[in-house]
Amino acid sequence: MKNIVILGSTGSIGQSSLDVISRFPERYRASYLVAHKNIDLLQQQIDMYNPKGVAVIDECAGSVLRKLTNGSIEILTGPDFMEELVQRDDIDIVISSLVGFAGLRPTIKAIEAGKTIALANKETLVVAGEMIMDLARKNNVSIVPVDSEHSAILQCLVGEDLTSVAKVILTASGGPFLNTSIETLKTVTVDEALNHPNWRMGNKITIDSATLMNKGLEVIEAHHLFGLPPDKIEVVIHPQSIIHSMVEFIDGSVKAQLGVPDMKIPIQYALTYPERSNSNFERVDFRKTGMMEFREPDPEQFPCLRLAIEALQKGGTMPTVLNAANEIAVQAFLNNEISFMQISGCIERVMSDHTTIMNPPLDVIEATDRETRKQTRSFIESID
Ligand code: NDP
Repeated sequence: MKNIVILGSTGSIGQSSLDVISRFPERYRASYLVAHKNIDLLQQQIDMYNPKGVAVIDECAGSVLRKLTNGSIEILTGPDFMEELVQRDDIDIVISSLVGFAGLRPTIKAIEAGKTIALANKETLVVAGEMIMDLARKNNVSIVPVDSEHSAILQCLVGEDLTSVAKVILTASGGPFLNTSIETLKTVTVDEALNHPNWRMGNKITIDSATLMNKGLEVIEAHHLFGLPPDKIEVVIHPQSIIHSMVEFIDGSVKAQLGVPDMKIPIQYALTYPERSNSNFERVDFRKTGMMEFREPDPEQFPCLRLAIEALQKGGTMPTVLNAANEIAVQAFLNNEISFMQISGCIERVMSDHTTIMNPPLDVIEATDRETRKQTRSFIESID
């Protein structure tokens, strides 16, 4: 029996993870659930999945839940609980699926304690990829990707030598604005941006998918996870989201991993890796799939992809700046403070003001994150 902590159980990945875990009651238990403040859903999850304990990041929400549950379950809250929780002896696997920079510290603590990491929180590798991969090597910890593209690459690499990889090809659906002109993109609404054609996800990653920043973050994630230089990572638009990514080898062969767009499939693979287990998830029916298309992303239409690749090439603290500016700009777009095309404008401006610090330790990464958030906010406030 493997005991699991889900960081972000109330999110889209967290809910799918609980569904997957509940299908293997003899192998996995969702022992601890962590949410930010959605205690209504957390309470339903307590009733349904019977964890040993739950934790709430927002202290007010935590005290309300403590009253509601009346001592029937351990409730953790407060600034440092996540670091203590992920290191407990009765934990084997940490599903890291908080959204944004908040996922970094608990993931580091879990690696230091030798826990297996099922990683959905790509921001962790974007801001501190080198540090995380070094730490994982030193502690002999497996970081298994949950992201469907990286899961696809991992599956293509089984039985292969990394030296025989010519390049990896990350597929991108292109999001809701694939066929929208740059002129129209200036006036698209939040609802239109949240209407992803293929995937149901949290708001932040859904906007990242519409700007293609998500693909840019995934390029950085792939660079760290698979140790590949940026010029060996290519992005191709594939609107049907059936091929989740591909690997081209030095002999010209290409392997691809295919499946319906359902995150439960890569989540289950992350838990059972390197084995496979039965599932009754929907199958691809190739008699009905129709055309599969591929095309190059347009850098004018999707400047965020270019910005992410530039941040990766600069290295050091630049990906942290990219990430923090993006988190703030996406939230500002969701709050109707800036337009869709201003998201990339804000990030570009803040990146151009930053002087990169190479090989940053954690305190420098955290300070850069805080400072960039402030700078991005003041830039947004200065926009008419
Ligand atoms: P959601 O927005 O659906 O869920 C986010 C989770 O994090 C919730 O449990 C939420 O708690 C918690 N949370 C929200 N704000 C904060 C905060 N400020 N501090 C700490 N925790 C917070 O996100 P997703 O599940 O869609 O995505 C989670 C991660 O997985 C992201 O990094 C994303 O890029 C990655 N990912 C997601 C995929 C998907 O299909 N959704 C696919 C691949 C990767 P509460 O509900 O209480 O607010």
